[in-house]
Amino acid sequence: MTDGLVLVIEDEDAIREMVRVTLESASFEVLEAVDAEQAEMILADHCPGLILMDWMLPGISGIELTRRIKRDDVLKEIPIIMLTAKGEENSKVMGLEAGVDDYVTKPFSTRELIARIRAVMRRSGVSQGESLEIGDGLKLDPSRHRVTANGASLEIGPTEFRLLQFFMSHPERVYSRSQLLDQVWGRNVYIEERTVDVHIRRLRKALEPSGFDALVQTVRGVGYRFSVQN
Ligand code: CA
Repeated sequence: MTDGLVLVIEDEDAIREMVRVTLESASFEVLEAVDAEQAEMILADHCPGLILMDWMLPGISGIELTRRIKRDDVLKEIPIIMLTAKGEENSKVMGLEAGVDDYVTKPFSTRELIARIRAVMRRSGVSQGESLEIGDGLKLDPSRHRVTANGASLEIGPTEFRLLQFFMSHPERVYSRSQLLDQVWGRNVYIEERTVDVHIRRLRKALEPSGFDALVQTVRGVGYRFSVQN
């Protein structure tokens, strides 16, 4: 497991690469996008713990993308750190108005970048929800993006993480595929219902070694339920 998933949106290859290496060496998992379009495609299927956004992007600017993200019911919870160049003082005001959580001014030290990311993630940890525990040994910690089964960390993808977080906070209730799509993927995302089945399978596989996969129950003709009862 990692300290969290970070989406880096930066068109300059050298900077993006440097940021990726820096984050990975600090135990973060990294997704990369070169522009807003690519970022939106990634955000349709992943929920990073933080977005690191360049201000000067080709096409749709960082500020416009920030506005779009902050208007989205599901994505607006993701904290955003904006990368600005020296002298772009004006952009900081605009960024703040658009909902940016913090800034890092280029050129920055890797140590400063990591410190800012950790600070913003810590601050926003409250809104990511409480730690959850169910079934005597299955724990999910949203602020650390970590799932453990009987103390051992589980490898789990970002979508499966959100699915599990939803299930663990709404146990014993049956949800249809379309309800799960709304709750976990968001209403503005157009995904086929069988995509839910794919991620349910992956979630079960991730939970299988610990035996907690039995909690993810298929309710024939209706959908799925997360239950500690059989
Ligand atoms: Ca740029």
